Amino acid sequence: MTGLVIRNAEVDGVPGIDVSICDGRITAVGPKLPTTSADMIDADGGALIPGLHDHHLHLHAMAADAASVPCGPPTVRDAAALADALGRAPGDDNGWVRGAGYIETVAGDLDTDAIDRLHAARPVRIQHRSGAMWMLNGAASAAVRLADAAHPGIERAPDGRPTGRVWRADAWLRDRLPPSGPPRLDAVGAALARWGITGVTDAGPDLDPSSRAAIAESAADGSLPQRVHLLGAPPDSDTTSPQGRVTVGPYKIVLADSGLPDLDDLADRIRDVHDRGRAVAVHCVTRESLLLLLAVLDDVGTQAGDRIEHGALIPRETIDGLRQRGLTVVTQPGFLAHRGDDYLRDLEAIDHPDLYRCRSLIEAGVPVALSSDAPYGPADPWAVITAAVNRRAPTGEIIGIDECLTAAEALTRYLTPADDPGGRPRTVRPGAAADLVILHAPLVDVLTAPSADAVRATLFGGTPHRI
Ligand SMILES: [Zn+2]
Repeated sequence: MTGLVIRNAEVDGVPGIDVSICDGRITAVGPKLPTTSADMIDADGGALIPGLHDHHLHLHAMAADAASVPCGPPTVRDAAALADALGRAPGDDNGWVRGAGYIETVAGDLDTDAIDRLHAARPVRIQHRSGAMWMLNGAASAAVRLADAAHPGIERAPDGRPTGRVWRADAWLRDRLPPSGPPRLDAVGAALARWGITGVTDAGPDLDPSSRAAIAESAADGSLPQRVHLLGAPPDSDTTSPQGRVTVGPYKIVLADSGLPDLDDLADRIRDVHDRGRAVAVHCVTRESLLLLLAVLDDVGTQAGDRIEHGALIPRETIDGLRQRGLTVVTQPGFLAHRGDDYLRDLEAIDHPDLYRCRSLIEAGVPVALSSDAPYGPADPWAVITAAVNRRAPTGEIIGIDECLTAAEALTRYLTPADDPGGRPRTVRPGAAADLVILHAPLVDVLTAPSADAVRATLFGGTPHRI
């Protein structure tokens, strides 16, 4: 493989640095490296930083979301707009309409009859913004034979009829939909590359074999240029021998936002994963689920690499306990910018300081990583960094002013390694993988107004994806 030299970059705040790359790795970093026959990129004084890693997102859901009708704000705000959007949707090859991002402020609780009043002509399924529920209209309910199905997530009226609302049953639902493979990931990969993201952690729980195979294929054939760390690989997956660009991370466990699991059952699950030498990544959104998890971990113990996903509400009195147990928090302040108004309206004022904590965790010594939870939260890391800095709700109100990070601090939380999300940020140094981002300006200038426009090129193993 031929080499590459990036000339006149700013590295770690030092201008005029050259970086040479060979066989996908950085081989030298310094001023005025000797001229070689290698290809050359003039960074023109712009910063060269390691590629960003989004520590929690959902690849296939992002791809599916891109092919969906937006059913919530800011695109759709009331029932008439929702009916209009569904009516105009082209539908997929099987004639189905897929909606996403629904929230009750649009048209209240949706059941089969309510959706049929909006659109009955074609089968419609709408995903709730939380990602935890699907709502089906009459044609869709008939097509998946909802009435004679036995899945516990199927909500039923007192007379036993399904309401059309189906909770946490994605795999079941997929089995009953007209056959179609997992969505292609090239558009998602290209968008992530434009933002400077060279690695992602896919947080989908219990990925089925076809989803895992599709991700591995996309990573292998380059249609998804990012490295992928999987939380949804089965508990017995081997973490020691990463295959190609896809590695296995902690095992994802979801604590439902409504209703809590049995304590013994959760303890058994965590113990089983730990016994296999694997850490856990536990979805914790509510205060109750966090307290329950901490109680269970007192019993079963923690293991290096155990992490809390979201940490949407972290009571101050639990922070010390997080540090003592060595837990990393992988959080998403981007939600404040998207949903802050809902939080301010729906949560007690006493809860507001506990929302998506960042600074108090870091200052207490709790390792913190940033991420998007895309497609449920904003995917652009520069938007998430901005949200971590100003913590403004859409109305402009600041949520938890004591939790604001500087832009530089927020960026480093995207530069930590996939397998150590709260750890030491990666740097541009000889020996490191040449997954790099060239920015249009020195880093201090970029960080005064973080924006994806600052990304000039993203390199994967030394190969520019966009220049
Ligand atoms: Zn998630």
